[in-house]
Amino acid sequence: MSYFKVLLVDGIDPAGIEVLERTKSITPIVDEKISHEKLLDVVGEVDGIVVRSATMIDREVLSKATQLKVVGRAGVGVDNVDLDAATEHGVLVMNSPGGSTMTTAEHTVAMLFAMARNIPQAYRTLKEHQWEKNKFKGVELTGKTLGVIGLGRIGSEVARKCQAMGMNVIAYDPFINPDANLTSGLVMVSVEQVFDQADFITVHVPLTDETRNMIRKDTIARMRDGVRIVNCARGGIINESDLYEALKSGRVAGAAFDVFETEPNTESPLLELDNFIATPHLGASTFEAQRKVSEDICRQVADFLLKNTVFGALNFPQLDAGQVEHYQHFVDLATRLSTFVVQLCDGRMQTVAIRYSGEVSDMNLNYLTSIILRRLLAPVLREGVNLINAVHVAKQRGIKVEETRVPAPENFTNLISIELKSDTDSHRVSGTVFTDKLPRIVNVDGYSLEVVPRGNMIFFTNNDKPGVIGKIGTILGQCSVNIAGMYLGRERQGGQALALLLVDNPVRPEVIEQVRKIDNVLSARVIRV
Ligand code: NAD
Repeated sequence: MSYFKVLLVDGIDPAGIEVLERTKSITPIVDEKISHEKLLDVVGEVDGIVVRSATMIDREVLSKATQLKVVGRAGVGVDNVDLDAATEHGVLVMNSPGGSTMTTAEHTVAMLFAMARNIPQAYRTLKEHQWEKNKFKGVELTGKTLGVIGLGRIGSEVARKCQAMGMNVIAYDPFINPDANLTSGLVMVSVEQVFDQADFITVHVPLTDETRNMIRKDTIARMRDGVRIVNCARGGIINESDLYEALKSGRVAGAAFDVFETEPNTESPLLELDNFIATPHLGASTFEAQRKVSEDICRQVADFLLKNTVFGALNFPQLDAGQVEHYQHFVDLATRLSTFVVQLCDGRMQTVAIRYSGEVSDMNLNYLTSIILRRLLAPVLREGVNLINAVHVAKQRGIKVEETRVPAPENFTNLISIELKSDTDSHRVSGTVFTDKLPRIVNVDGYSLEVVPRGNMIFFTNNDKPGVIGKIGTILGQCSVNIAGMYLGRERQGGQALALLLVDNPVRPEVIEQVRKIDNVLSARVIRV
């Protein structure tokens, strides 16, 4: 007798379907190309859905999914699933990123070889009946220096394989503590050292604000003459027009892409260049990987439905019903404080010290700490970190997490303080919730102030001298940035001060540059909560 129904769409590999059948408690319903209308019709009857990247699980679908408990994505990206709506509807969303790690690492190595030995170019001329033996002299990989940027699942596997091939591997990943076991046998270096020393560079980072255009004209200018570059991660990490120029001039001897800024892409100018080779986003396209991600996700979905075991979750089942309502304002406070402090702190995160005092200390602190850590790690790991794995990921990365519970109220009835230390920086922010239930920051780096953090903010520190605030106001006015609120804190008259401006619109980097140049302004940055 079946207890659960799981709908599998987008041509999920049959291996996963067998996993569900073997449970004897789950009936798989397979519809390879389901229309949106049909999905709306049937979604009310299923307990789980397994998708790849085509079928949209949007708010409308979720609103009709009255008995849906879980959505599984065979693979990584969940652009086709509305995570917020799923969370609101209490639907767990999970993915299975590990299944494609080996395959993508192998593709990267294949690209390195193909590029070093001009295999695609030689193959093409041979198919045109030309025997071009002298034209395609290549280079060896053995003994060359490979710079790996991003030492996560795929990057570390590529590093391991290339070490085994006799390459000298150096790696840059500012979010991994060099002492963590992950990096054993590898030399961790700065990104500049990768650019200075590598004969080959391969990127394995997610596309974030920081990694977008990480390889561009000025960083290419630092690289060795004749460097060769691979991107099997995400389009946009390497600036395509700057690379085009560098390949054309020969400054970069070769490049190999599996991914482009826009996809599908058959018109990129890069494709005209003989020293550029590419594949159409084939990184995860092997029978084994498709089978593995399908098996992984179906096992995860079955484990969740049958045993309530959660693995690979991207959102998180709420606290139990009573607790959600009672403690929601503390969840909100923890979220905003961590979102705030992570944007304040530069460098590689080393220690996170969280102190809960007063009423908040009665809560399930594992839950709150997970919320905080997920926010602190999310800017670099994106979907790689979630509430379930946040503590584990922090530990794995050598980040020390200290949690202090002080049941008695200290200066406030309830207070959460988060102190973040990196290798170069350190900040502490504290917040509380008054009877109006609004989350307030009450202290930043020892300065008292009181602000409800929301939207776009400008944070700056300055010497407490007359005229500074006025000049900032003038610049913001000239740049059409409207100030919605201003909150000041200072150590003493004439000493150092800090301020938070709530502004109505996003602030361009040039505006912050102008603020930084004002006399007596010590630092300025934009924060978005
Ligand atoms: P991962 O999360 O395991 O690793 C990413 C690593 O990048 C992390 O260690 C993180 O610390 C590091 N990182 C983040 N920001 C950085 C920065 N600014 N500088 C240096 N390092 C930084 O991810 P993964 O599974 O190894 O995937 C790596 C990339 O490959 C992702 O972009 C993913 O989307 C892509 N991918 C592509 C294919 C394909 O078909 N070509 C398949 C799978 C994954």
